[in-house]
Amino acid sequence: MLIILLGPPGAGKGTQADRLVKKYDLAYIATGDILRAAVKSGSPLGREARVFMEQGQLVPDEVVVGIVRERLTAPDCTGGAILDGFPRTVAQAQALDKVLGEIGTGIDRVIHIEVDEEELITRLTGRRVCRDCAATYHINFNPPRVRNVCDQCGGELYQREDDSLSTVQERLAVYREQTAPLIDYYGRENLITIIDGNREIEQIFSDISAALEVGSA
Ligand code: ADP
Ligand code: AMP
Repeated sequence: MLIILLGPPGAGKGTQADRLVKKYDLAYIATGDILRAAVKSGSPLGREARVFMEQGQLVPDEVVVGIVRERLTAPDCTGGAILDGFPRTVAQAQALDKVLGEIGTGIDRVIHIEVDEEELITRLTGRRVCRDCAATYHINFNPPRVRNVCDQCGGELYQREDDSLSTVQERLAVYREQTAPLIDYYGRENLITIIDGNREIEQIFSDISAALEVGSA
């Protein structure tokens, strides 16, 4: 099963992916997490990506396509995977189609999580992330049991630099211009299920699960 989670920053893709990978035993590929780990390690990839990420811009297509190609062909992905935050441009979607053609597989479903812009800003500016395992929380909507401590691994929680208000606004503009066209791209192939993401986490999860189960029946 290959699932793409599509939606603006803050829509809840990572939050839902965390539940979906456990329920369906899928590999998890989040390009943002992979890029942040590269920045943290100071690798050449991280040095290249850092400036784009800090400014809320997209990292060049060929860089992220290379990352995803490598991940999708790794042994842990043979049972299926969830893509979160990729593709983000039509060029990336076309490159993904090519990679999947080479591997001999296809996309099962694209889940488009829709959320109002005001809500996205509230979610992103209140988001906290675990430094060690990248689990995601919200100071009001999804707080950890102990303040600033990850429920899953005990790691320290921090606020992403690009979750500041000005960078969030830039990222939302980038989404509208460069990523939103993917809704039509996948709509044409009848691959999209639209989910109202302005609701409780568990309600959204239940709708996504139902969409995946219909698709695989
Ligand atoms: P994305 O991966 O799409 O950028 P996240 O999963 O990181 O989004 O969610 C963004 C923020 O919103 C996080 O702080 C998360 O805890 C919170 N969040 C996610 N889903 C919901 C929801 N349905 N209602 C309220 N807050 C949510
Ligand atoms: P995310 O964690 O998905 O919000 O991504 C954080 C940042 O990483 C984005 O603002 C981009 O700078 C970069 N990034 C993540 N995924 C991609 C992608 N598919 N294409 C280009 N840049 C990406």
